[in-house]
Amino acid sequence: MSSNNASKNISNEIKTVDFRKGARGVFVWGQITPEGFPHDVAYELLGIGREIADKLETHLTSVLIGHNVKQFAEDLIHHGADRVVIVDDPKLETFSVLPYTRVITSVIEKLKPEAFLFGATTFGRELAPRVAARVHTGLSADCTMFDVGEYVNRRRKQRFEKVLRMIRPSFGESKLATILGPWTYPQMASARPGVFKPLPKDTTRTGEIIEFAIDFKSEDFLVEVVDVHIAEGEQVDLKGAKIIISGGRGVGEEGFKLLRELVQILREKGYKAELGASRGAVEAGYISSKHQVGQTGTIVRPDYYFAIGISGAIQHLAGMKESKYIIAINKDSEAPIFSVANYGIVGDYQDVVPLLIEIAKKGELTFPDL
Ligand SMILES: Cc1cc2nc3c(=O)[nH]c(=O)nc-3n(C[C@H](O)[C@H](O)[C@H](O)COP(=O)(O)OP(=O)(O)OC[C@H]3O[C@@H](n4cnc5c(N)ncnc54)[C@H](O)[C@@H]3O)c2cc1C
Repeated sequence: MSSNNASKNISNEIKTVDFRKGARGVFVWGQITPEGFPHDVAYELLGIGREIADKLETHLTSVLIGHNVKQFAEDLIHHGADRVVIVDDPKLETFSVLPYTRVITSVIEKLKPEAFLFGATTFGRELAPRVAARVHTGLSADCTMFDVGEYVNRRRKQRFEKVLRMIRPSFGESKLATILGPWTYPQMASARPGVFKPLPKDTTRTGEIIEFAIDFKSEDFLVEVVDVHIAEGEQVDLKGAKIIISGGRGVGEEGFKLLRELVQILREKGYKAELGASRGAVEAGYISSKHQVGQTGTIVRPDYYFAIGISGAIQHLAGMKESKYIIAINKDSEAPIFSVANYGIVGDYQDVVPLLIEIAKKGELTFPDL
């Protein structure tokens, strides 16, 4: 037998399989914040969820859990959902992992989605693995990309059509791992907040709203939330900022005073500016971790990102490289940050930042498209 014929025979033996057992639809968790509004990530998941659902030729459902949350259902439909499943109960007003696990597990058992996505928020990271364990599936955590495609397993002689590819950085962000796990359904993943874009609101979109009742067990309420305190103090809105002025270990405590001043002036000029930081600066105690940008901080994509005294470690780049314009100021011309920068200034921040402050005060530091 020729080698050509041999390979033909092998490929003939490969069977197209489908382990979904009728499971259909992409589901996303419509997380509600402690303040009682849908979290940004609820909309971001609808954006990527819509793309996945269209590729899988199926529907997209948002699962909304809480109390008095029905008011948000229509908005989720306007942002891409075909259906919103609502589980509304006064006992669910505050996030608590045991009852929320019961809710999502029950929804999965009854409605049988083929994929379920969570936001990799503090609550999402607590909830998703528990749900995965209860429904006996795997979880790909912290994904930054998704795709749908074929998967052929030559050893098992199986071909899966349209498998969800869950992609996440690994090996310290230096490689991308594609995780498939098509043998158990739903395929489950959490997605990093800030990575995916919400769809523009389309008020002409219509969809179905389903109210779902849960048969809670007494063990779901072993933990009682007695009170909720929302931390006061400085509010840092890195995600909403159009301009981020970020400092690193290289600017020190004194440098951060200058960066704060620059942010303040830009705000006075009407720009949505915020102060960011590298983990190096946070660990050195120059600034609070609320400002940290990067893999373990906030992932941002502002129009303008100033990286000042930041070397550009891969974990920092993971959080800001999607910014529209990156302006780097560093005294080391070899600093890796320059490899992603649109504009670079090689110099000491002590020389450059006071100049920026001076021209900003005069209104000459302008951002035409903002
Ligand atoms: C699992 C893991 C997760 C991580 N997550 C994050 C994360 O989310 N975010 C993050 O930022 N990091 C993260 N890190 C840390 C990251 O690897 C780097 O250690 C960190 O980003 C370095 O911070 P830096 O650039 O401020 O400091 P450095 O690397 O020390 O760089 C300081 C820079 O300042 C420049 N400089 C010094 N003096 C001046 C001056 N006078 N004027 C101008 N420039 C000057 C230097 O040339 C240098 O390039 C993570 C690491 C790990 C292992």
